[in-house]
Amino acid sequence: MTSADFPAEGRNYQLVVIGAGPGGFDAAIDAASNGLKVALVEKDMLGGTCLNAGCIPTKLYLGATGPIHDLAAQAKVKVASGEISVDMKVLLTRKDRFIGATRKAMGQKLKTLGIDLYQGTAKVSGKGKVEVESPVEKAELEYENLIIAAGSHPTAFPNIAPDGEAVVDSTGFLALDKMPESLLVVGAGFIGLEMAQIASRMGAKVTIVDALDRIAVYEDPEVSKTLHSIFKRSKWNIRTGVKVASVKTVDGQAVLETEDGESITAGKALIAIGRRPNSADLGLENAEIATAGPGYINVNESLEAAPGIYAIGDINGITLLAHAASHQAGYVVRRILGEESGPYAPGPMPSILYGSPETMRVGDMPADLEGKGKVETSSFPLAANPIAQSYASTQGFVKVIWLDGKVKGVTAVGHHVASLTTTSAMIVQEGWTSEDIHKVIFPHPTLDEALLGALKAERKEV
Ligand code: FAD
Repeated sequence: MTSADFPAEGRNYQLVVIGAGPGGFDAAIDAASNGLKVALVEKDMLGGTCLNAGCIPTKLYLGATGPIHDLAAQAKVKVASGEISVDMKVLLTRKDRFIGATRKAMGQKLKTLGIDLYQGTAKVSGKGKVEVESPVEKAELEYENLIIAAGSHPTAFPNIAPDGEAVVDSTGFLALDKMPESLLVVGAGFIGLEMAQIASRMGAKVTIVDALDRIAVYEDPEVSKTLHSIFKRSKWNIRTGVKVASVKTVDGQAVLETEDGESITAGKALIAIGRRPNSADLGLENAEIATAGPGYINVNESLEAAPGIYAIGDINGITLLAHAASHQAGYVVRRILGEESGPYAPGPMPSILYGSPETMRVGDMPADLEGKGKVETSSFPLAANPIAQSYASTQGFVKVIWLDGKVKGVTAVGHHVASLTTTSAMIVQEGWTSEDIHKVIFPHPTLDEALLGALKAERKEV
């Protein structure tokens, strides 16, 4: 974002928001739509991580390379043949154009709603005060309410960090103008697995290294196992339980050394080992705001960090997902408007890994419910679903988790299973019993019928 003049007059606001990612932007829009006088401070680009270096660019890449996967699946069953190639330069331009247009539309929306945008770095300078500094200007804003939505950045360790050459983080990966012939991914979480799929579809040989004993460790173990097996079929070299000592550029190549003295070389290495909150230089001490762990802002059950100061999104560490940030924004604004007095209760949190396969998870998994009652699971294989058959992508399943006869969670792995997420969230939120299954018609043929199949399947006690 280029620095522009700060808004000229009236620096007293009913709400000041720090950060224009999904959390901060949505909070500013909601608040101004409801008549509050709002200032939004952003030191970089409107849209934050999600729009500029996260959710959106990765999905644009996955969308563009999806036909490569679909053709490969049909080719495996000898229905189709041929090749699809992706022009990386055109893809980059399309991505930048789309994201640029979205930022422009966001800026326009701020103007329409009369929100004062300060393009600079915010720091809490005292109770009720935020200092904003750009390369050309400095100002002090006064607030009645403050929302801190400053987000997070990729983690690195001294010997495992982007180096401006062959070792990149997720932001660096999205800036590559050419896909390497081989990609080494350190960290088998959401970001590593989505980016590995993009690279793999574009012809890169993928090696994944993770210190833990399974990939996608935050998923139900059965889901991780199926993911592993599907990626193995794509000839990925998956190395779990490996302790990485260093990743460095040597003669233009990325070289990983393990603690056991093994070395692995690739064209590029992607470091995807997690994210850390952007809280270090926010001046939190000036308003007696406490942090925990690597700097996540401590909040109470109302997402308040101190009286009149809220922290939402990645920076509070509750759930590092864009929809969590937006949902928290809505709650906090309603609270400021006096429309909400109870604690923040988000309901079942949906989580998706995109690509082919996808994973979806909502609500509790069996491990979360240990000791809480009678836990059962029921599953349905995608191999028996006509839509999965039509895509020739039949590996995977849908699994329903029950507690004392009510649905408490749903998870799935396989092609397009993300499409089951919102329906599943509603079912979990409503706490369906087996009687409720008959109240809704599931259309035929759809992937949703695999969810219906899992709801109706014989249950096994865990
Ligand atoms: P951010 O989006 O990080 O925004 C924070 C903003 O605050 C930034 O613009 C930053 O510049 C600004 N800021 C920081 N400090 C200051 C300061 N002192 N002064 C002024 N401005 C400041 N989530 C999903 O739900 N779905 C996905 O598919 C998904 N995919 C992802 C893929 C990748 C590669 C990555 C990296 C993340 C992905 N995420 C996804 C996570 C998602 O991007 C984040 O959870 C989300 O962006 C968090 O929103 P936020 O508003 O809390 O913070």
